[in-house]
Amino acid sequence: MSIELTGFLSSIRTTIDVVKGFQSTYSSIQIMEAKTELLERLIGIQSTALSLQQEHSALINEKNELQKKFIEFDSWKETESSYRLIDLDKGKFVYALKSPQLSSEPNHWLCQNCFNDRKKSILQAIFVNDFDEMYVCNRCKSYLSLH
Ligand SMILES: [Zn+2]
Repeated sequence: MSIELTGFLSSIRTTIDVVKGFQSTYSSIQIMEAKTELLERLIGIQSTALSLQQEHSALINEKNELQKKFIEFDSWKETESSYRLIDLDKGKFVYALKSPQLSSEPNHWLCQNCFNDRKKSILQAIFVNDFDEMYVCNRCKSYLSLH
């Protein structure tokens, strides 16, 4: 083999090695870019999954709150139907049991203010004698004085 041919083949081999090196480098860059893009997409998917999970959790909480309110509403309707508004003395209103004889509770009055807020608050006697009566609602702190 002549020196020229040996040099040429050597030069081709060197060029092929350089091209292989370029391909190897190019492939590595492509792989890096693909990895980066894949990682970005995975982060995006993870972020979306996290958002959906938070949304799902919020919806579950909302559903539980609505169920709780529905149960409270149902319970209140039953309570509400057991009472009627009465005028004790010139516009001093309370709610009283419709049928105290059928109730398992002792006879009592409910605060009209709290009743309107769907809360059952029994008026407490703080002063009672033959002439005067004073009642307080421990929930809203309103007073009712009867003479
Ligand atoms: Zn009250």
